[in-house]
Amino acid sequence: MKLKLTVLLLLLTPLTKASPALAACEKNLPTGIIMGLSIKAPAPEGINAFLTFMNDVLAPAGVNVLVLRVDYNYAYESHPELRSANPLTREMVQKLVLSSQENGIALIPQINLLGHQSWHSTHSKLLSVYPEFDETPHVQLPENYEWPNEDGLYCKSYCPLHPRVHEVVFALVDEIMEAFSATAFHAGMDEVFYLADEKCPRCHGLDPAVLFADEVRRIRNHLHTRDQQLWIWGDRLLDGNTTGLGIWEAAGNQTHTAIDLIPNDVVICDWHYDRAEPTAAYFALKGFNVITCPWNNSSVAKQQVAQFVGFQESSNGVLAQRYRGLMQTIWTDAKSFIDAYHSPESASEKLQTQVNCFKTLSAEVAEIPKK
Ligand SMILES: [Zn+2]
Repeated sequence: MKLKLTVLLLLLTPLTKASPALAACEKNLPTGIIMGLSIKAPAPEGINAFLTFMNDVLAPAGVNVLVLRVDYNYAYESHPELRSANPLTREMVQKLVLSSQENGIALIPQINLLGHQSWHSTHSKLLSVYPEFDETPHVQLPENYEWPNEDGLYCKSYCPLHPRVHEVVFALVDEIMEAFSATAFHAGMDEVFYLADEKCPRCHGLDPAVLFADEVRRIRNHLHTRDQQLWIWGDRLLDGNTTGLGIWEAAGNQTHTAIDLIPNDVVICDWHYDRAEPTAAYFALKGFNVITCPWNNSSVAKQQVAQFVGFQESSNGVLAQRYRGLMQTIWTDAKSFIDAYHSPESASEKLQTQVNCFKTLSAEVAEIPKK
């Protein structure tokens, strides 16, 4: 009888109760609906304009999470050889931290780990300084990049099994987390096309899903030793073949089964730009906290907000709590976005659509009734 009572009590224990470690990770994150913005970190000469934008536009629009893509644009002390030509200084970052705190915005720095180690014909700083970390050193970056190409080259990856790569990238992660006073880190990890390459002496023949999951877990475990939380893009955890999602917003290279191999305290940023694909439900059902991310299509953003609201209304409390909100992704530099926001009539269509999507998304999220 006593055993039965214990089992009953266990069954009645709320599953929503966060573990102490997760609760510590979340202490600086919004408890309500997330309205996020993901954008490239401003250049040093654009810091003041960005601070003004945070005060005058982002905070009034309800933005409460700001993912800043920093990558190598910081004056790293641990690895000065990995600084870009015009890096942010610690003092500049402190200004961003102060402004975000004053405005109730959680600041989350991003460094692309694993994938996105090149862009078109240029290596990232990591691979240009440490070419030995390249997963596919036999693939040459072409002078004039085109997609598709014979090598299936989109972006380079570092080899997750190189014995020295983590000592380098984790030093950058630690430094930037400290500089940003952050409790969550975004590692990117989207669109990883090169993984388990047949010519890599370490990864050859290994399961891409296991390699991907091991790398996610490695980064997550490193952050958790400091009560910090890992955020990633979700595309590698979706099966692009059986779902029709394709090889960009989902995986065509067999990484999708990693979804069952990674700790579910990793936060998934689930990006879909052309349609409001209902994959947030999949991530939530798998136990992940999830955030839906639009880009440049206002009507898709509207549908995504409607899906979020519908999910909240129709799900039980455990699932509803896992779907945390929405985050606008901006794929230009910060200055171009700010300029386009203030003067849309003189901006390119590519910029206008992103500005419009942000305005639509933030207005729609602001309309969601608070519980
Ligand atoms: Zn490898």
